[in-house]
Amino acid sequence: MSSAYGKLEEEKVFKDPVHRYIHVRDELIWELIGTREFQRLRRIRQLGTTYLTFHGAEHTRFNHSLGVYEIVRRIIEGFEGRPDWDENERLLCLTAALLHDVGHGPFSHSFEKVFNLDHEDWTREIILGKTEINKVLRRVSDSFAEKVADVIEKTYSNKLVVSLISSQIDADRMDYLQRDAYYTGVSYGHFDMERILRVMRPYDDQVVIKESGMHAVEDYIMSRYQMYWQVYFHPVTRSAEVILSKILKRAKNLYKQGYRFKQEPTHFYSFFNEKPSLDDYLRLDESITLYYFQIWEEEEDRILRDLCGRFLTRKLFKYVEFNPNLQMNDWPMLQQLFIDADIDPDYYLVIDSSSDLPYDFYRPGEEEERLPIHLLMPNGKLRELSRESDVVEAISGKKRTDHKLYFPEDVLDDHTEHGEVKRKIKEILMK
Ligand code: CA
Repeated sequence: MSSAYGKLEEEKVFKDPVHRYIHVRDELIWELIGTREFQRLRRIRQLGTTYLTFHGAEHTRFNHSLGVYEIVRRIIEGFEGRPDWDENERLLCLTAALLHDVGHGPFSHSFEKVFNLDHEDWTREIILGKTEINKVLRRVSDSFAEKVADVIEKTYSNKLVVSLISSQIDADRMDYLQRDAYYTGVSYGHFDMERILRVMRPYDDQVVIKESGMHAVEDYIMSRYQMYWQVYFHPVTRSAEVILSKILKRAKNLYKQGYRFKQEPTHFYSFFNEKPSLDDYLRLDESITLYYFQIWEEEEDRILRDLCGRFLTRKLFKYVEFNPNLQMNDWPMLQQLFIDADIDPDYYLVIDSSSDLPYDFYRPGEEEERLPIHLLMPNGKLRELSRESDVVEAISGKKRTDHKLYFPEDVLDDHTEHGEVKRKIKEILMK
């Protein structure tokens, strides 16, 4: 590939608490890290509102993106010289790994839901649109940016390249599990990545694992399983997420009703209208979002003010188990009682189901986009992991849906007004 970029004269090294060091030897990678759009990832947390549950979880998409890059770099190093590996794809793999999350916005999950956004569309726009990243990529070759976008969208023709950053055992997941475990401080999430990297092999159009590495992979699957329930689905994090969504929804509704904000939330206007331009999108990060939450704490609107105060001071909603399928009669009754108690159920009574969250553990075959894990057997044949491993078989395909009902317990316990109704509500919720 003729390219404007070569090797750096001297290797650059980032100190990283998870991988110890992140090595950058290519000019292209170094230039990309320095772009405005990539640096923006420093202002977007990897785990959204999880820091309100695990206070250490302040790490950002910037840390994670460098980590994914480093893992792919190490995998490829091990592929060098193997027959199914095309060395010409090296720079493409590294670039796609580095940029795979570049389209994420602040608190992605809630923002995407309320404002009808999709970070994957934004990733494509940032890579192909008028950005510093695109400028850097275009200097590699005319088609390079398009290829990078295709790899991230999983449409690139060489599926081996795609599988490095999106498969059941990809660099993305291997980084975030370890990184999220490290920063939350939980004891799950650790597995022997060095071992897995040593047994990964390019095989036709996918990455497979030598059978001798099966136990290391089992450990990885188990750590995923535990992280989902202990960290990613944590009910307190979901409470913060519920409040965040309601803040955005309230601000949007007020705007639509022509409400006069004391200070105009100009950064949000195009989001309220669901038509943000690329520049609007890139300007909104978590710092700006939290700034507005502080401003909105002074607003006239009681609901917006209260919700922002709750988020900033961590006065979160309480929760109870609630199965909407079994408790069908309670739901309309509770809504009416909330109205009677002068608490708007649209904002203060929320059912949240864990199956709505963008995570899953190992389910072979069910997820079309992500290839299952294949073991390379000593006879040269491939076997799907759950057929070989009892441990993985035991947890694969199990879907645990978990429904919770969120509400402000402090308001219900304050009986200065509507005491009778509130007592009744508590009775239903606690039964
Ligand atoms: Ca990622």
